[in-house]
Amino acid sequence: MAKNKARTVFVCQQCGYESPKWSGQCICGAWNTMVEETVVDVHDETRSRSAMAGKTPVPRQLHEIRSGEHSRINTGIGELNRVLGGGLVQGSLTLISGEPGIGKSTLILQAAACIGKQNGPVLYVTGEESEEQIRIRSDRVCRESTAELYILAETNLDLALAAAEKLKPAFLIIDSIQTMYSADLTQAPGSVGQVRACAARLMNYGKGCNVPIFIVAHVTKSGDLAGPKIIEHLVDCVLQFTGERDRELRILRAHKNRFGTTSEIGAFDMNASGLVEIPNLSASFLEDIHEQPAGSITTGIFEGTRPFLLEIQALTSPVGIGFPRRTAIGVETARLNMILAVLDRKAGISLSDHDVYVNVVGGIKADCPSVDLAVALAIVSGHKGKSYERSTLAIGEIGLTGELRMVMNADKIVGEAARLGFSRILLPQKNYARLADIVKKIELIGLTDLRSAVALLRR
Ligand SMILES: [Zn+2]
Repeated sequence: MAKNKARTVFVCQQCGYESPKWSGQCICGAWNTMVEETVVDVHDETRSRSAMAGKTPVPRQLHEIRSGEHSRINTGIGELNRVLGGGLVQGSLTLISGEPGIGKSTLILQAAACIGKQNGPVLYVTGEESEEQIRIRSDRVCRESTAELYILAETNLDLALAAAEKLKPAFLIIDSIQTMYSADLTQAPGSVGQVRACAARLMNYGKGCNVPIFIVAHVTKSGDLAGPKIIEHLVDCVLQFTGERDRELRILRAHKNRFGTTSEIGAFDMNASGLVEIPNLSASFLEDIHEQPAGSITTGIFEGTRPFLLEIQALTSPVGIGFPRRTAIGVETARLNMILAVLDRKAGISLSDHDVYVNVVGGIKADCPSVDLAVALAIVSGHKGKSYERSTLAIGEIGLTGELRMVMNADKIVGEAARLGFSRILLPQKNYARLADIVKKIELIGLTDLRSAVALLRR
């Protein structure tokens, strides 16, 4: 007997109202909330429940569970392994999102070639590009042999999964979820219902066959495609690949990870031959640590399990007409305003008649309070037109009373600074008290408040 087409209904995402037909407005008054969903047959439900009755799950004692139990696959890309928590977990479902053209497909293709070489066939289902386009890209970016890489240009997910069941791949890639559709639903690919149904089907396949799956999703600013947000609860890991098209730096972050931490970041350099890992992130941001123009100072932040150093630049210029401008790139504007207020009230440096610009070099976002002191000192240095040695580094959070507050993981940042050849570090007194006995190679200067830090630099 031929398989019957699954029955579908349209369900309002706001009130739960069901209707056999789509309508623009629900009876509750909400617009565009009707999403198509397949109806699960009640008889199927009871049948699967009685089939499961034979094997009742047994809870385990907490101490029996060991961390690192999942067997992991090496993706061949150290930075990707790091963000995933030590490699790709068998049977895991990972969503990787980012703007179109940022390099998601390149990253995955490079990993796919590596995984294929070690673990057997890898299936790359493409709904975006033709097979030829992928071939051209793989010639350009893959350094490994691509003998185990299978490409399928298909947008029907049912057919793609049928092909996967035949090939039995060690790793499956769906590029992208917004181009896939299931014939059970009548809506267009990329609609909320389709994206959700396809993701659920992929999860069933991956968990059932113990195959790790990468789902690529594009984030568009216009929002005409269903964003990857709607399936985030379903997947094991959510990775986000960010960067600017006109810059080479790409950052990979985990927003959700059932098998590891979400604080890790991976850094890559995008060039003509693909993505190159940047294991030494600090060194790539600091060009010459002994040349120090006015208005620039180095600071450190701690992301994930590693510290990295970056340069803060600031410029002030007398305001013409109207209100002074405060522009911050890489630092929150609210934070900049707070620092300016503290400089004014607690350190006696008023910039109310100056425009202030602050930039974190390299396009990195430094949304971490440990950079406060460096932002303040860069502004003062730029304003006074006085420079100091580049081999000075400053870390510290500034409080509203002008005090310098302790920074987490200061020891790691200090270690990184020593490794890169910095000779002097300005840091909060409380951090200094803990580190003074340990650190010998580098001069540490412990400070209690912003005023004393400014006084130290104004020479
Ligand atoms: Zn409704």
